[in-house]
Amino acid sequence: MEVLLNEDLAALSDLDEQSLFESLSQRFRQDRIYTYIGDILVAINPFKYLPLYEKEVSESYKYHEKTKLPPHIFAVADRAYQSMLGRLATGPRNQCIVISGESGAGKTESTKLLLRQIMELCRANSQLEQQILQVNPLLEAFGNAQTVMNDNSSRFGKYIQLRFHNSSVKGAKINEYLLEKSRVVHQDEGERNFHIFYCMLAGISPDDKDMYGLLDPTQYRYLNGRYGSEDIVRKWGEKYSEVCNAMDMVGFEEQEKVDMMTILAGILSLGNIMFEPTETDALRVTDKSMGWLKATAGQFGVQEEELLRSLTCTLSVTRGEAIRRLHNQQQAEDARDSIAKVAYGRVFGWIVSKVNELLAPNVDFDVELSEIGILDIFGFENFAVNRFEQLCINLANEQLQYFFNHLKPGFIHEEHTSPACQWPSKHIFLMEQNEYKEEGIEWESISFKDNKPILDLFLTKPIGILSLLDEQSAFPQASDRDFVDKLNSKFKSSPHYEVVRSHSPLFTVVHYAGKVQYNGLGFLEKNRDTIPASIRSLFINSVTPLLSLLFAATISRTGTLMPRKAKLMQKADDNFNSTRKQSVGAQFKIMVSVSYLQHSLAVLMEKMFVASPHFVRCIKPNGSKLPDQVDNKIVMDQLRYNGLLETIRIRRDGFSWRPSFKEFAQRYNILLIKPDLPLTKESCMSILNTTEIHGWKCGSSRMFFKYWHQEELARLLERLGKA
Ligand code: ATP
Ligand code: MG
Repeated sequence: MEVLLNEDLAALSDLDEQSLFESLSQRFRQDRIYTYIGDILVAINPFKYLPLYEKEVSESYKYHEKTKLPPHIFAVADRAYQSMLGRLATGPRNQCIVISGESGAGKTESTKLLLRQIMELCRANSQLEQQILQVNPLLEAFGNAQTVMNDNSSRFGKYIQLRFHNSSVKGAKINEYLLEKSRVVHQDEGERNFHIFYCMLAGISPDDKDMYGLLDPTQYRYLNGRYGSEDIVRKWGEKYSEVCNAMDMVGFEEQEKVDMMTILAGILSLGNIMFEPTETDALRVTDKSMGWLKATAGQFGVQEEELLRSLTCTLSVTRGEAIRRLHNQQQAEDARDSIAKVAYGRVFGWIVSKVNELLAPNVDFDVELSEIGILDIFGFENFAVNRFEQLCINLANEQLQYFFNHLKPGFIHEEHTSPACQWPSKHIFLMEQNEYKEEGIEWESISFKDNKPILDLFLTKPIGILSLLDEQSAFPQASDRDFVDKLNSKFKSSPHYEVVRSHSPLFTVVHYAGKVQYNGLGFLEKNRDTIPASIRSLFINSVTPLLSLLFAATISRTGTLMPRKAKLMQKADDNFNSTRKQSVGAQFKIMVSVSYLQHSLAVLMEKMFVASPHFVRCIKPNGSKLPDQVDNKIVMDQLRYNGLLETIRIRRDGFSWRPSFKEFAQRYNILLIKPDLPLTKESCMSILNTTEIHGWKCGSSRMFFKYWHQEELARLLERLGKA
């Protein structure tokens, strides 16, 4: 196939937002949805079927030369796999593929295509392969939902790690981030609850329906009476069998499935319990919902009176004395909803840990594994009202942007030794520039829009937004207003913070991608994310084994993680290779405060900083999910938001790969067909002078290459091999 002009836009001489946009949309109009910009793959969602993923296509991208075939997501899979095997120049063996883009841009579809192609490439153990491929449908059923942006929107972020020994896959591990639990109890106009509820109701057999105590779908408040046409219901039903299949394949046991469905049924019944005040202070469950109370207790396997008690009052112990405080109606409804959210969150967390247990690599301790990780995480969000969840998501994106800007492909940041919860304090670009100076390389300094100050605003200890949030969350009497007042007083002069004059606790953060106004209401409560002890003990005593297990599991409460604990967790993660089939209970941890999120993201970034990165940037062509339509503003906004141009410039100007003379000469002496060549500067120069590669530089102790040189050299080696 002939190389098409502009398949790599990094080669454009006048690369600006406009020319980038025009090239991309021109290609898109010809159904060329993939384009390289240097080492980044841009993917524009076609919103229609394209014959791009057939068997022959998949075959043709195996072990291909990048410039010989059009840009493709399979090429990214190939490159990651080959680099992991050490077949492409140098760089760390562990790979990470970062997929970004806004909701509906195609991240999850890209993830699935990558997984599929990587499994094609390694063709190892077919059962394990099948298990790995089933993980996505399973997680999607429980973690995805219809939203106004996307009919199959992922309401959680995930990092899938595939673990390999040599060329064959040995296991997988998933990390999940920030499941949007509030969706269980409330959905906005035009949105739905998690898919699994509809699937279950549509697909279950009449007998099982009786067994689980499920009624007509329109009866459930948590489903908002929305169900769908016959056609849709049939699709849900089919999906249910797929999910059950996936669970069987991955290795869930029958009893576990039954327990899980019973808990889901319990959540639905719980949502229908309503309260009303009595003449005395106490609340009672309305006559109409007495049946639901009974049903919920049965489905959760708990005592009806105990369930009622945990909904209608709080028990607190002060100076050794137990005090019972009666809830008002609002508090009782909140308690009900928080039980539903906690229970759902735990079922989801349990599924993930169960998958991890079942797919843990079954290899000896001393077997060294390498890894390909794929990150599929929500993009930057800016809605009419932005809450705690948006703050977490945007912070995660801020960190990704930082990673994106500071990392050069193929270059290990040895200097980067930041502890799990901190960010590199030294400026990587500055370090690089020093290295150029030391090596006597001529170089124009690159200026770029650094988002470190914004990260500092969030993460500085003890006075960053997160520390203040944790600090305020620790005071039971503090309010959201107090929290925002604190922010206002500390950050009013920060260029990345704006005070909002309002009765509501509003504040604005000037993010990398633009200004976002947050509503602080509910921040403290969400960050505390505590479950009252009474609810916990209610569930621990459940006769449903799974429910009891979920609540008995080790839970670290909110607040900043103790450093020791953070270290232990990191260690636990590092020891993953050696983790054998432990009980789920032992591995099972859920911590949901923003500090925990921060910690888990920091661990993720640590991993990513020492892996070879690959980037896929997904773009949504229009807001109406339509094929063949490009909305200029929507696309331009995305190019701007994700800082694509800036990144391209940084990439193009920098030298990403810097092997020592010895390393380079050893690997490439074969190009001169002189295996006994001395490993010196002169040898490196003469090797390179026999090639047509240009643009490299020679320092005093090492060579300096642009990112594309690695590929050019790999191609030369390959040709030599074939000759
Ligand atoms: P969210 O952040 O909401 O999870 P997302 O970026 O993961 O969004 P996807 O679910 O991957 O978005 O894609 C949305 C929809 O776009 C898909 O359900 C599918 O219909 C369509 N789509 C995405 N990629 C492709 C593709 N390569 N070919 C055809 N259709 C696609
Ligand atoms: Mg998704």
